Amino acid sequence: MTQMNTEEPGVSAAVELRAVRKTFGEVSAVDGVDLEIGDGEFFAMLGPSGSGKTTVLRMIAGFETPTSGSIRLGGREVTKLPPFERDVNTVFQDYALFPHMNVLANVEYGLKVKKVPKAERRERALEALASVRLEGFETRRPGQLSGGQRQRVALARALVNRPKVLLLDEPLGALDLKLREEMQVELKAIQREVGITFLFVTHDQEEALTMADRVAVFNAGRIEQVGTPADVYEQPATAFVAGFVGTSNLIEGEAAQSILGRPGVYSVRPEKLRVDTDLDAELPEDEHSATGTVAEVVYAGAATRFVVDLDAGGRLVALQQNLQSSSMDVLKLREARVRLAWRREHEFAIAGPT
Ligand code: ADP
Ligand code: MG
Repeated sequence: MTQMNTEEPGVSAAVELRAVRKTFGEVSAVDGVDLEIGDGEFFAMLGPSGSGKTTVLRMIAGFETPTSGSIRLGGREVTKLPPFERDVNTVFQDYALFPHMNVLANVEYGLKVKKVPKAERRERALEALASVRLEGFETRRPGQLSGGQRQRVALARALVNRPKVLLLDEPLGALDLKLREEMQVELKAIQREVGITFLFVTHDQEEALTMADRVAVFNAGRIEQVGTPADVYEQPATAFVAGFVGTSNLIEGEAAQSILGRPGVYSVRPEKLRVDTDLDAELPEDEHSATGTVAEVVYAGAATRFVVDLDAGGRLVALQQNLQSSSMDVLKLREARVRLAWRREHEFAIAGPT
């Protein structure tokens, strides 16, 4: 027998996956995933399209059965249970609202199916609508709402069931950028208020970093790294994570040997690099540096992005705040000779390309 976590009440993870695999015919969609999500966590599954995120979510919801491995919710084995026997609810990307029902009826619907008495149904639906800040919209139909408001109705419809875990599959994907950014902040605030565990799927790294307490980075059906946003961003465990969560900025091969004096693959984030036009200026003890030629200058208002081809080989992107410089100053630096410098503590060894 394999050893499992003891089932002490109160300490079981909200969601626990052990060696979960799922194949569809020849396709290996999920290729051995282990995951533990704590009670009340806002957890993001981040990865490119096709990396298996939705399949993991659907197995947790009970819409798919794992080919092998086990799933527990709150310490309870649910691997083969149907969706309605699990204490989870899903918010789908397309919201799946009933167009002919008003907002209140949409939110009440699930409770009606469960034969919750009318008065209680009404009370809970109004409470759920208040929690997503949609008071006063009860009699509107979905067609009379904005995208963001429809999103909130879908959320209220899930929250009204008071699930232990809420599963969200790219819930903000249909919104335009500005609304999406507003909803990111809003969703985080709602989660904090209701205290329910949120498990959230996205392919947008900024979204994951903004909202999640912890992030699992998916690649080809596996998890490459799990950690806080700061962990995965500042200390990517693999070259894939370095590239997917931000600009990869790798120093490797001969460049690593000549710049850092050791072999390996290292990552340093763009905003940690200082761009200096004085190649001979004195360097603090705790810094490393590399000279190169500016290949590209991208002025973006608040900051400028310099793409620098290193003399030692390879290229790094440096992000500089436009503290004093104007677009005229920085654009003149194209093709200039520069020196990039950074504190040694900001360079991280990572596993080689996977
Ligand atoms: P993601 O949500 O990360 O984009 P998915 O979990 O949807 O990824 O898909 C992972 C892989 O599994 C993809 O290659 C996809 O084509 C495949 N897949 C997902 N669902 C099915 C299915 N029902 N039948 C066959 N292949 C599927
Ligand atoms: Mg998906």
